[in-house]
Amino acid sequence: MGILLVNDACSQKIPSKNLIMNNKDTNQYSIQKTEAEWKEQLTDAEFHVLRNKGTERPYTSEFEHFWEPGVYVCKGCGAELFEAKTKFDAGCGWPSFYKSINPVAVKEILDKSHGMVRTEVVCAKCGGHLGHVFNDGFDQPTGLRYCINGVSLGFKKKED
Ligand code: FE
Repeated sequence: MGILLVNDACSQKIPSKNLIMNNKDTNQYSIQKTEAEWKEQLTDAEFHVLRNKGTERPYTSEFEHFWEPGVYVCKGCGAELFEAKTKFDAGCGWPSFYKSINPVAVKEILDKSHGMVRTEVVCAKCGGHLGHVFNDGFDQPTGLRYCINGVSLGFKKKED
């Protein structure tokens, strides 16, 4: 039916039908690297978010007010994750999208950390932490808000 309940902000309303209940099985990702390899490849800020599930400070991303046509990719592995045309200004301080580029580009995982129940979003190829998805994209086609750390993303300009 595809109907999403958005009439209250209760964080226990989980958006995804494909929600993974735990993320312990890191072997599910096709790209496997050691912590040392990730540290060598990523900046400290990128490593903090992508590999340690950190959160960048709000209103600091170069992508927050960036509206060029193109595709956002995973900073960890280059996988295409979000189309620029699905990006919107949620005013929350992080780049926001109303859907991923396709249904299998990201995985959505139940996250009970920090005393909240949220849905974590990770890159389906490398397992890198991207952010969370919420049901409060009220004026968006899907009703969803993928709230993504800009530091976890790269950008590919649209080629004509
Ligand atoms: Fe990735």
